[in-house]
Amino acid sequence: MAVTLDRSRLIERFQSEFGAKPQRVFFAPGRINLIGEHIDYLGGTVLPAAIDRGIVAFLRRRDDRMLRLRSVEQPNGVDINLDALPDRADALPESWSGYAIGMIRMYLRNVSSGFDVLFASNLPVGSGLSSSAALEVLTGYIAQALSIEDFAMNEKQRIQLALDAQSIENRYIGVQCGIMDQFAVAMGRKDHALHLNTETLDYRYIPFKSDRHTIVVMNSNRPRKLSESKYNERRAQCDEALSLIQRLRPQYENLVAVPEEDLNILSAEPILFRRARHAVTENLRVTEAIAALSAGHIERFGALLDESHRSLRDDYEVSCFELDSLQEISRAHPACIGSRMTGAGFGGCAIALLETVDPAVVLDFAETVGAAYRKATDFSADIFAVQLMDGVHEEVL
Ligand code: ADP
Ligand code: MG
Repeated sequence: MAVTLDRSRLIERFQSEFGAKPQRVFFAPGRINLIGEHIDYLGGTVLPAAIDRGIVAFLRRRDDRMLRLRSVEQPNGVDINLDALPDRADALPESWSGYAIGMIRMYLRNVSSGFDVLFASNLPVGSGLSSSAALEVLTGYIAQALSIEDFAMNEKQRIQLALDAQSIENRYIGVQCGIMDQFAVAMGRKDHALHLNTETLDYRYIPFKSDRHTIVVMNSNRPRKLSESKYNERRAQCDEALSLIQRLRPQYENLVAVPEEDLNILSAEPILFRRARHAVTENLRVTEAIAALSAGHIERFGALLDESHRSLRDDYEVSCFELDSLQEISRAHPACIGSRMTGAGFGGCAIALLETVDPAVVLDFAETVGAAYRKATDFSADIFAVQLMDGVHEEVL
């Protein structure tokens, strides 16, 4: 994974791969979730943001119906006719291509000709920064832009794109994710986070200017083992908790809407009680975090990140030794005002909020945390600052 995506080298790569120059270039960001973890499938509110790392796609239209997909990050590409796209991702020769081909199938009526595309990414793959959502949203955007010069999308179309990408991940790929990732990738805005109600899809942009604080991503580099089965298990436990509560309190439609005092209904089921307590308190933390940001109380915002991590670790049990180490080690640095795991957990990334933008302090943070993490675990972390950026868009070639 290259840290910067060197456009001229990628154009050369495109040319040697396909024998002609690309005509257009598109970019989709990855995302972090500031707070509101594991509640996007429970009707909760969340606070994700698109970041300045993501996937770039170089494109050239063809005169026939062939689709040729290549990725710098994957050894094998896929050549396939537009009229022969399978209805199941597992029928494809390369599993990575399912994210792209699912979206092309979705918008096939917009796709008037075949095309060649080269993807390249500076997002760690499978680490909780939503490279899958970036690949889906990017390809869906390209499929719709293909026949249109000066293509642009309004917010309504972007939301539809996010919903379509989620449905491809759910039904074509078979991962039961919520809407948060695709929404952030499609709808991100520079220097803003997205306050999203995952039940109603109401949203608003929350200013998060990075002229005083730095958001740092810390990739534990621990592979996310078991994450899919544990993810499905958590979803099932939350469904069970809600149906037990609804027997006595049918008025609650979502787990996150249950008042804390009514969680006592689950006292005979200690595991379900803790899962539900995470959902309810995390949703309250998001509301409080937004109030803290609006009031300029960044210290309180940071403390809520810490609380979120503790809840994910102790009540929801989706953290791991490496993420807990990163959280504790980062928190011990004097510039850090809060940190937590981000994404599904069981490995992947954590984020830290620093009270400064001083590059020397940010570098010291990365070095100190990196060294202590190497000592505490069997892994070496990648630690980098991120900026909050716009959602998927076309760039000038
Ligand atoms: P995350 O979304 O957290 O990064 P996922 O497991 O949901 O992790 O998605 C990762 C998968 O997305 C990869 O295994 C690969 O199939 C696909 N993918 C992501 N980035 C790329 C890329 N640059 N090129 C090709 N495939 C990619
Ligand atoms: Mg993903």
